[in-house]
Amino acid sequence: MSRSLSITFVGGARSVTGANFLMEAEEEGRPARILIDCGLKQGERFCESANSKPFPYDPTSVDALFITHAHADHIGLIPKLVKDGFHSPIYGTAPTLDLMPVMLEDSVGIIAREAKACGAEPPYTTADVARAASMTEPLNYGLTKSIGPFTITLFNAGHILGSALVLVEVFGKRILFTGDLGRVPTLIIPDRDVPPGTIDYLVTESVYGNRTHEPIEESEKALLGALKRVQEKKGTLLIPSFSLERTQIILKTIDRFLTEKLVEPLPVFLDSPLAIRVTEVYKNNARFLRRELQEQLQSGDDPFSFPSLRVTFSKGDAKAVDEAEPPKVVIAGAGMSHGGRIRSHEMHYLPGKENELLLVGYQVPGSLGRRLQDGAKEILINRKKVKVRAKVSKTGGFSAHADRDGLLSFAESVNPKEVFVVLGEMESASFLAQRISGFLDIKATIPQEGEQIEIPLSE
Ligand SMILES: [Zn+2]
Repeated sequence: MSRSLSITFVGGARSVTGANFLMEAEEEGRPARILIDCGLKQGERFCESANSKPFPYDPTSVDALFITHAHADHIGLIPKLVKDGFHSPIYGTAPTLDLMPVMLEDSVGIIAREAKACGAEPPYTTADVARAASMTEPLNYGLTKSIGPFTITLFNAGHILGSALVLVEVFGKRILFTGDLGRVPTLIIPDRDVPPGTIDYLVTESVYGNRTHEPIEESEKALLGALKRVQEKKGTLLIPSFSLERTQIILKTIDRFLTEKLVEPLPVFLDSPLAIRVTEVYKNNARFLRRELQEQLQSGDDPFSFPSLRVTFSKGDAKAVDEAEPPKVVIAGAGMSHGGRIRSHEMHYLPGKENELLLVGYQVPGSLGRRLQDGAKEILINRKKVKVRAKVSKTGGFSAHADRDGLLSFAESVNPKEVFVVLGEMESASFLAQRISGFLDIKATIPQEGEQIEIPLSE
């Protein structure tokens, strides 16, 4: 019987963002194609990145798309895929599919502005987002879906609400894609699964392949310390936060500090329409949260809210942030300060010595957040020079990603025959690959962007 199987690392190879993996199987001349993720490449100028180029495969020929989770670097190009002719179902867990349009509607405007800045057409519109949303079909953890010769099962990846590991079984081979992998323990969703049975190939992320996170307790301490300092200095604490998962972790942590009276109540502004909408999706998908949060919600106590929390949905409401007397806290997106309302707050508050900026997530090279993390004393926001006199600190313990030891221990528990290391900067990917081959004696390679790897099949 003539059969062939391959994986093409279309995007997300040797880079953190832009996840897009194509699996092609052929039997007796009948081809079948599935995609895992279709993400936006972030941190580069729009016109220089893959976002603006045509897909290197024919979107009309793809039989299904499986999405690991709703972060933009995993779903951000789905509307473009649809616009370019993809017409098959899009599978993910129910929360991922609820989050998808919320996240995409938010990024449409940002992408259009980026495209306009370099004289290009926007890659898609809100109509394409709506079309993509109408093509989704939920697939629960543990259930299987057959697409031609492929059988696909999703497992909990423990990264963000609804995040999934994608297990692909085809022609007797079992291939596991991690998407992004969560750390253990997590704070608001259940810890990740290890799929049962033998895995032939593991396609693992490596965002933090060469770094360790501080324990969650250290980040809780850093947040508590920053809150206490701005209370003392009568300053403003800015937290640029990713709207998805990170913001909910911060809200839940502040809620706990207040309940345990570790800090005096102070106004906390959630100045992010996106984060507000995302938090609603969390509450609507309570069965995907940790059991203790489900119980808290059932008892009528919202783990993501407290009396001094003010949500500012519209831009008019956002004025209340500036009018409020310090001390106060402002949580706003975008997480890497590359867009969103945080930029105007940074313009306003970074020059003040009494203020603080706490970075709680990964800052991609080239982003404004990365420049602040690297200690820039002066930055440009909307072409205006802004002096940075506020204390800038970062803490990595709220990360939703496994660190280098977590990634290694996941590879060890999966115990595959071979590993492809993706979704990390080169340094980080090669560090993880070396540790996988050195410590676990498993062959680990780092595919290049666009590389197609044939999977050998036994006759
Ligand atoms: Zn992610």
